[in-house]
Amino acid sequence: MLDRNQNFLRENNARYQFHPMIHPMLSQAHPPQIIVAGDGCRVTDIDGKTYIDGVGGLWNVNVGHNRPEVKQAIIAQMDQISYYSSFAGTATPPSIELSALVCGMADVEEADKIVFSANGSDAVETALKLARQYWRLAGEPGRYKFISLKNGYHGVHFGGVSVNGSPYYRGAYEPLLPGCTQIDTPWTYRNPYSQDPEELAQIIADLLDREIRHQGPQTVAAFIAEPVQGAGGVIVPPASFWPKLREVCDRYGVLLIADEVVTGFGRSGSMFGARGWGVKPDIMCLAKGISAGYVPLGATVLNRRVVSAWYQGITPEGFLMHGYTATGHPLACAAALAALDIVIREDLPGNAARQGTRLIEKLKPLADSSSIVGEVRGKGLMIGLDLVADKVSRASLDPSNGIAERVAAYARDEGAIVRPAGSTIILSPPLVINEAECDILASALTAAFARIER
Ligand code: PMP
Repeated sequence: MLDRNQNFLRENNARYQFHPMIHPMLSQAHPPQIIVAGDGCRVTDIDGKTYIDGVGGLWNVNVGHNRPEVKQAIIAQMDQISYYSSFAGTATPPSIELSALVCGMADVEEADKIVFSANGSDAVETALKLARQYWRLAGEPGRYKFISLKNGYHGVHFGGVSVNGSPYYRGAYEPLLPGCTQIDTPWTYRNPYSQDPEELAQIIADLLDREIRHQGPQTVAAFIAEPVQGAGGVIVPPASFWPKLREVCDRYGVLLIADEVVTGFGRSGSMFGARGWGVKPDIMCLAKGISAGYVPLGATVLNRRVVSAWYQGITPEGFLMHGYTATGHPLACAAALAALDIVIREDLPGNAARQGTRLIEKLKPLADSSSIVGEVRGKGLMIGLDLVADKVSRASLDPSNGIAERVAAYARDEGAIVRPAGSTIILSPPLVINEAECDILASALTAAFARIER
C-alpha cells in the first residue's frame, strides 16, 4: 500500500526535475529510480528493494552510506553554527581543522594552502583561475593556455568544459575559453600508435612536448589531467606516463594540475592518484571523497611553488580575487573531518586496492564469456567494462543502441546498481566494500551479461 508521500513521489518523478544526462523523452518513459535509504554498501529504492551500490553514489560515498560518525559530526556542528564562510575575513573551526588535515595528508605533494569550494567543478575552476593568476604574479601574464587529454572530464563550469576532452561535453556550449587544446590519451586498449604500454606512454608524452612547443612555451599556463580517467571510460595510463608528464611540464615550467576529484582519498588504491604514479602535481583538485558525498565540498590544494607567488609583494592581482559563498562551509568541513578520519583509520586506500583486484579478477572471465565485453580494466575501485561491437577490431558498441542501459537494468533486477556511460559499464562502489559484497556485485553483473547473450 502506497502512502500519500509515495504516490506524490511516483507521480512527480521526472515531471518537474530536468534530469541531466537523460534525454527528456527518455526520462518521461523511464522515470529515474527513486532511492530512499542507504546503509554501508547497500541502498534501498521506493519499492523496498535493496541493491549493492556498485557506483558509490557517483564515485563519492567512499565511507559507505549512513555512517553514524559522519552524521554525528554534522549534527554536532549544527549545534554550534550551521553556516559561516571562510571567505574575506572569517573562518570556522572545522574549516581550519580540515585545511590542516588535508595539507598534512598531502605533505608528500608539498601542499601549502587549500581553497575550499562546493564541488568538483568549482575545484577545477579554482585551479585554472589560480594557475593564470600564478603566472601574472610571476611576471608572465602571457601564459594563459591550458592543455588537457582527450577523454578527460573536468566538470561543468566554462573553464572545466573548455578543457574537457570529449566534444560531447563541449559542443553545446561553444565558444569556450581560448587557448585550450587536447592531446591524445595513452589508452592501451584502443590506440592507433603502439601496443607496448611504455612506448605508448612515451609517444603521448612526446605529443605533449610537441603541443607545448607548437603553442609556444611562454604562452602555456598549465596541463591538467586525471591520474586515472574516470567518466571518459576508466582509462588507466601506463605506469611511466605520469612521471613522463611531470618531466615534460618541468622542461617548460608548465604547471601540472592533477584533477583528483575521483581519485583523491583512496579510490584508485593510493591516498592520491598522482601519488600512485609517484608524481607530485603543483595543484590538486579534490571533491567527492573528501566529504564522502554527505555534504558537497570541493577543495583546490596549491603546493609551495604556486603559493610562493602570492608572497612576492603587493600587486593589483596579489589578492585571491576568488571565492564562493560556500567556501569552507562548516557542515561540509565537519562531515569531511569525520569521513577522512574513517579513510585513514580503516585504511580505505588499501582496501580499495585489495577489493579492486578481487573484483577485476571476478569480472575478467566476462571478456571471454560475453560477446560484447572487450576488456575489463581498472585501478583500485575504478573499474570499467568496455563494450565492443567487434572483439577483433575493438570498435566500440554504438552507445545509441541502449545495450549498456539494458545491462544496467538487468543488473538492477539482479540486485546491483552499475553505471552505463557511453559504451562502458562503470563500477565505483564505496571503498568500504568487503569480499562478500564484491562477489555479489560480480555475480549480478555476470548474470546481467548472460541475459544479454540470450
Ligand atoms: N573532475 C572529475 C575528474 C570528475 O569526475 C568530476 C565529476 N564526476 C568533476 C571534476 C566535477 O565534479 P562535480 O560533479 O562535483 O562538479
